[in-house]
Amino acid sequence: MTHPSAIDHFIHGAVTPGTSTRRQDVYNPATGAVSGKVALANAADVNEAVAAARAAFPAWSDTPPIRRARVMFKFLELVNQHKDDLARLITAEHGKVFTDAQGEVARGIDIIEFACGMPQLLKGDFTDQVSTGMDNWTLRQPLGVVAGITPFNFPVMVPMWMFPVAIAAGNTFVLKPSPTDPSPSLFLGELFKQAGLPDGVFNVVQGDKEAVDALLVHPDVKAISFVGSTPIANYIYETGAHHGKRVQALGGAKNHMVVMPDADLDQAVDALIGAAYGSAGERCMAISVAVLVGDVAERIMPKLIERTKALKILNGNNLAAEMGPIVTAAAHTRIAGYIEAGVKEGAKMLVDGRGFDGAQAGEGCDQGFWMGGTLFDHVTTDMKIYKEEIFGPVLGCVRVADFAHAVQIINDHEFGNGVSCFTRDGHVAREFARRIQVGMVGINVPIPVPMAWHGFGGWKKSLFGDMHAYGEEGVRFYTKQKSIMQRWPESIGKGAEFVMPTAK
Ligand code: NAD
Repeated sequence: MTHPSAIDHFIHGAVTPGTSTRRQDVYNPATGAVSGKVALANAADVNEAVAAARAAFPAWSDTPPIRRARVMFKFLELVNQHKDDLARLITAEHGKVFTDAQGEVARGIDIIEFACGMPQLLKGDFTDQVSTGMDNWTLRQPLGVVAGITPFNFPVMVPMWMFPVAIAAGNTFVLKPSPTDPSPSLFLGELFKQAGLPDGVFNVVQGDKEAVDALLVHPDVKAISFVGSTPIANYIYETGAHHGKRVQALGGAKNHMVVMPDADLDQAVDALIGAAYGSAGERCMAISVAVLVGDVAERIMPKLIERTKALKILNGNNLAAEMGPIVTAAAHTRIAGYIEAGVKEGAKMLVDGRGFDGAQAGEGCDQGFWMGGTLFDHVTTDMKIYKEEIFGPVLGCVRVADFAHAVQIINDHEFGNGVSCFTRDGHVAREFARRIQVGMVGINVPIPVPMAWHGFGGWKKSLFGDMHAYGEEGVRFYTKQKSIMQRWPESIGKGAEFVMPTAK
């Protein structure tokens, strides 16, 4: 695939530049070069997309679930055929290494597969004879036009947490992807068209706050799914709810990994290095804090230093790459600022990633947004680098005396997205999983992203709303329950009943 220089919207089955004249540069983070200019929608562009989705809703929601699922099966086949094209688009605009981008697409495909089972998932409940001659059943119906607002860090997987489930359930969808890496969403629109999805069922509006605000107040948008940083998640939740919408807003994170003294240290080191520096730490489930219990710190630190220094930091196109560039120059500046703050606050810097020279990453990379892995020891819970989400390749190590203290600091943290505990003790593992105030827990698993049928969601300031993304919670989010009671003619003619109906 070659990059279009103009990256536009996808509305009613066609690519369109919209009416807004605002555009934003899209970069290849590895080289620092501008690779495209993405349209930034105004309210009129958003209204057009919502109108297309609204017009498509009656026929699509009336289409039998099995036929909707067949379109999803065809889409699944096409995504599988083009999964490497999608991964290449991700690497080109996000920077993450190609093999990691392939993994992202694979985890998105899981959700399409789940959505293909929608006829089974939409099956209702039926009770025969709730009263003499009367039956009661429940069914779930789609909401209407629903919108997804997604972050830069998973431009394929996170939208796929949303639209396959929403669309298979009978809704029509407007996606507002991140303007940082907008191309994959357009490609998905093309694939949906090829799969035979009726025009208007899936639409993409590119844009920034202006587009988001237009969606948040639009009376025809019935639900909003958001994934991004916590301040924006909070804003989306409050504004969307104020305008009568159903909202799920997934926010930021600060994920801890506890290493107990009995853990297999080599496994723990592998896990920490991959989970802290994979995708340059720009994952909502990245491990950014290692909680080292008892004497673990003394034993593990030399290994962590060696491995952090040895990271293969290369252009993501290079199949040997373990870590690619930072997504934007602005993110690079923000992360460097946190590293500076860590030094000033007295954390002990063991590896400084700031000196990494892009020229080492490959030809043409000297102007890219490069940084190496940074490792801090003796981080304390009052430090800015402990309290705030850095979202970059920075691992902070906190030393604690015992398991209880490890649990306490994690439970006291304002975020509660993912967490992990490395141990060989089943009792410790069980206690950890039960006591920890975090939505997604890994036992000897560093990045416990739940599978498609389990649902994804953090606790505390990592999720606003009460339903997780995808899985059965996703189906519930995108449908409303209707209860039907039915009685047939022999009951007619008995006169009005003024007493609360009870079983007879
Ligand atoms: P972001 O919050 O800056 O942007 C997310 C979306 O909101 C984008 O579509 C963006 O265009 C839009 N947006 C940005 N500013 C806005 C504003 N002022 N008003 C309205 N809309 C606005 O997030 P990002 O930098 O793209 O992504 C990284 C963040 O996402 C991190 O905090 C990460 O933890 C989080 N994240 C969370 C999860 C999760 O499942 N909890 C998953 C992935 C990413």
